[in-house]
Amino acid sequence: MIPDAFYRHLFEIMPTSAVIAIEGRIVYANPAAIQFLDAENANQVIGHTMIEFIHPLDQTRSNNRLNKSSGVDWINAPSQFRMQTVSAQMKMLLSASVRISYEGQDAILVTGIDMTEHAEMAEQLRVSEKNFRQLFENMQEVYYRTDAKGIVQMVGPGVRNVLGFEPHEIVGKATESFYPQASDRDAIKKALMLDGKVTDFPGQMVRKDARVIDISINSRALYDDAGVFAGVEGTYRDVTQRKIMERELQRLATTDPLTEIANRRSFLEQAEQIFKTSQRYQTGFTMLMLDLDLFKAINDKYGHLGGDKVLARFAHTVGLELRDSDLFGRLGGEEFCILLQQAHRDEALNVAERIRQRIQDISFKDPAGELFTLTVSIGVTNNLESDERLANLLERADKALYQAKHTGRNKVVWFV
Ligand code: GH3
Ligand code: MG
Ligand code: MG
Repeated sequence: MIPDAFYRHLFEIMPTSAVIAIEGRIVYANPAAIQFLDAENANQVIGHTMIEFIHPLDQTRSNNRLNKSSGVDWINAPSQFRMQTVSAQMKMLLSASVRISYEGQDAILVTGIDMTEHAEMAEQLRVSEKNFRQLFENMQEVYYRTDAKGIVQMVGPGVRNVLGFEPHEIVGKATESFYPQASDRDAIKKALMLDGKVTDFPGQMVRKDARVIDISINSRALYDDAGVFAGVEGTYRDVTQRKIMERELQRLATTDPLTEIANRRSFLEQAEQIFKTSQRYQTGFTMLMLDLDLFKAINDKYGHLGGDKVLARFAHTVGLELRDSDLFGRLGGEEFCILLQQAHRDEALNVAERIRQRIQDISFKDPAGELFTLTVSIGVTNNLESDERLANLLERADKALYQAKHTGRNKVVWFV
């Protein structure tokens, strides 16, 4: 037989709240219960009704439970209740109760443990889960996973925004059916096999509306327990706008705004590349240096703006004589340079002569309606085995041009 003192001590020291009520009124509260209810002493609890400490929204449920119990030893199984403490705080209590006989009277013993923190955590979890879901639903990034054969196993809802498909329209299909070029798929496959992952990998995809978009992929290869390649998991997003802007910035940085041909820096950079390649593979190319004849006079007569118009039309006209593989740039002012790849002396002189002729043949109209013409002098040279730098060629072409100027202008001169 356990002595009563044991129970008294047990109730005093246990961290679980315990109260005894007779006809709904509290006659005993242990220290844990007093603490739970934020009371400074037992008097703030004892003599009060239990219902006072139960949150209004849970009062009916609590009453039902207590009324349902009948007879000593009836146990109400643990259930959570919102409580309100002496200091009006809301707390969560997981409580159970049992009918007992206390000092000869019918009483109820309620015990409970504080679940407030747990409830707060659960709530936080719920909120963060909701936020995550919203993020997932709205994100512009598409999550995807494929098996080893490239069949899509899972795809995130972002695919609605990015490709215009519902996720279920994608699952089960081969990823390559959404690539406009098979080479894209091969490139990413190769990179994944090499490094196990790809970061900001560029590619293209076809939307449901058939529009091709630029994408950027971040993904990694998946392996099964035996280390065998099992598929790919990652995300991709639409970078079409960014690509358009990048291309536009690139264009602005490399194009001369007046003539819309390569600017000096861009021309020389590309010429440098061709020069290096020609050195390595011993291939030939030719260079044409062009300078408009007596252009100062045109400026003087028709003004700087008039001169600009002439420059733009000159560049356009020259462009008509060139092929895509030829390089054409404005070195500055009214000086231009052309690099003809793999052209021999005769071919280069031919092109230069056609340009000279074509320019001589066009007529310009001044503001008063008077017609005037323009001529150009061209110095031509080709790359030599002895050339160490691109500048060697530029110098020779310049010298040939100088000769053209000094032997009457409107001429093509081959450097000798
Ligand atoms: P030459 O036949 O000896 O080349 O005679 P030129 O008058 O053309 O002489 P030069 O090539 O030395 O002069 C170039 C002139 O081109 C000088 C400058 O006023 C003009 N110029 C340079 N850049 C521009 C430009 O962007 N727009 C216009 N309108 N004129 C320019
Ligand atoms: Mg000139
Ligand atoms: Mg000049």
